[in-house]
Amino acid sequence: MVLLDVRDLLEKPGAARRVTLEERFDQLGTELARGEEPVRLEITLASVIEGVEVRGPLSGRIAYRCARCLKPFEEEFRVEVRELFAPGASDEADEYPVTEGHIDLEPMVRDAVVLGMPFSPLCRPDCLGLCERCGGDRNLGECTCGPDVDSRWEILDELELDD
Ligand SMILES: [Zn+2]
Ligand SMILES: [Zn+2]
Repeated sequence: MVLLDVRDLLEKPGAARRVTLEERFDQLGTELARGEEPVRLEITLASVIEGVEVRGPLSGRIAYRCARCLKPFEEEFRVEVRELFAPGASDEADEYPVTEGHIDLEPMVRDAVVLGMPFSPLCRPDCLGLCERCGGDRNLGECTCGPDVDSRWEILDELELDD
């Protein structure tokens, strides 16, 4: 949990405050991605009729593993959030709760950052991946299995076609 006290903003429409913080968030990742470094938040908390609106950029670095060749690499990210925190928010609504005058930034950060992560991260768009037969890294020329020829086409090659 990364809690912020917003009691100064509740029921004061028009009031706003800027918050800059760097924080490490747990469970920020997927099978092939890890956000272990702190995330930087430069957010504005604005009092609105329904509660508190949080908006601004989140940025940081994510450590990935390439989905094709498993090589580790890092990439920076920057996502803009604009979310409503409301007292009595339900899970179904597209908003986050205000609990006892505090908001927890963690679910919002996790949603925004994990949603922005590629489902299939690649070390480079044309990564050749690993050979399915020998396991060698094709990017490094470790595989010498030769072209993968489908046996049905080999048979066709042997047919002599007479005009
Ligand atoms: Zn790769
Ligand atoms: Zn191979």
